[in-house]
Amino acid sequence: MKMYESLFNRQKQFYQSGRTKTLSFRIEALKQLKRSIRYYESALLDAMEKDFNKGRAEAYLTEIGYVYNEINYTMKHLEEWAETKKVKTPATHIGSTSKIYKEPYGVTLIIAPWNYPFNLTVAPLIGAISAGNTAILKPSEHTPTVAGVISNIMTLAFPEKYVASVEGGIETNQSLLSLPFNYIFYTGSSHVGRIVMESAARHLTPVTLELGGKSPAIVTKHADVKLAAKRIVWGKFLNAGQTCVAPDFVYADAKIKKKLIHHMKYYTEKFYAEAFKTGTYMNIVNQNHFERLRGLIQGNVVYGGTTRPATLTIEPTIIDDVDFGHDAMQEEVFGPILPVLQFESLDKAILDIRDLPDPLALYVFTDRKSEAKNVIRSIPFGGGAVNDTVFHLVNPHLPFGGRGNSGMGKYHGRYSFDTFTHEKSILHQTTCIDFPFRYPDSKLLGKAIKYLWK
Ligand code: NAD
Repeated sequence: MKMYESLFNRQKQFYQSGRTKTLSFRIEALKQLKRSIRYYESALLDAMEKDFNKGRAEAYLTEIGYVYNEINYTMKHLEEWAETKKVKTPATHIGSTSKIYKEPYGVTLIIAPWNYPFNLTVAPLIGAISAGNTAILKPSEHTPTVAGVISNIMTLAFPEKYVASVEGGIETNQSLLSLPFNYIFYTGSSHVGRIVMESAARHLTPVTLELGGKSPAIVTKHADVKLAAKRIVWGKFLNAGQTCVAPDFVYADAKIKKKLIHHMKYYTEKFYAEAFKTGTYMNIVNQNHFERLRGLIQGNVVYGGTTRPATLTIEPTIIDDVDFGHDAMQEEVFGPILPVLQFESLDKAILDIRDLPDPLALYVFTDRKSEAKNVIRSIPFGGGAVNDTVFHLVNPHLPFGGRGNSGMGKYHGRYSFDTFTHEKSILHQTTCIDFPFRYPDSKLLGKAIKYLWK
């Protein structure tokens, strides 16, 4: 028998009992999840510090607080989202009514990366629970202490037949991916996203893929340059640049680039220099990523550049005069290194970015609405912000997800519920009348259709 097949079967059986589907069960499960996280809150913060030196305040803000907020928001709106929805019925169906029933998929698999190891495992789980599914979680092996605490949280909150967290590396994923899940929610690199989708295809399992990419920050000559610099370096160097929606590179109008870099250096120093000096700046998750990133620090380094192999720390680094041939422009940076490129015309910049794979996020800094609209409408990307970075992610009213190389599907807030829900369309037909038009012996069939569908 395949590894985890027994766990999968127990979840399937529990799902088929129907217990996970009632609204009261789902609300209670969300409450229980919150209680259990609270119980392990301190252990979770310790674990994040241990795994990659993530500061407690930042960890609370971007991981735990975020998850509490999602749980609260979901509990508040769940009844309304889960309601069966009556929709219009056309005249061709006279006498009948039409409804959309909300139905969970069944047994779901959630695979998460290491960069926000708690948030990216538990935020999708909120969607899975709220829609009435069972779930097997697979946190990243690169943050093993956090993965251990996640297991404890789930064990305290739920029986394994409902929600279970599985620890392990690639073989564990491969083993899980061989099972006929009813839905797979994967967050991680585009490379592994392809592997997940291939495995899912064997069972025709639907997937959400939350992937990465090179997210640009475009700064036009009409931008508030100082504010742009401040918001770009904040979004970039947060979590040591290991954020899927971090600005990956800056593409600035040549006319304001010098001024922009001046302010970027100022704010990087202000926000992060002390942390780097005192050893509290977050480190790179492992040796491989550290070495990869170190190799990207080349050319005209105008800020930072220091690396500390003993602690796997890289100083926030800004590189000027970069072009598309630079090593840092070949793949997603995913670390505290920010290349700056310049353009002479915004139209040309738009064409350049359109030539790259569709990014997960895009940021445009300008005070001209028409410029912002032009960028938004001309370039395909997941989502983003005008005059800000990263912050769009924490608005539960906005769906979050990529397209093309940066993924498929969306979640957060109501969209998480929708992602884990199948909409079952039902026509409730009357038995009081039976119009003859549709039947082959009706002479009126052709006439009726011609009249109604002309
Ligand atoms: P990763 O793809 O290497 O790992 C993610 C998960 O996949 C882990 O649980 C890992 O065990 C598993 N995995 C790795 N190799 C596998 C294989 N061959 N077969 C099956 N499973 C495998 O990603 P990562 O390095 O942990 O995370 C970084 C990437 O994730 C970046 O590209 C980043 O942009 C992206 N990301 C995207 C989002 C988003 O919401 N869109 C959020 C965070 C990170």
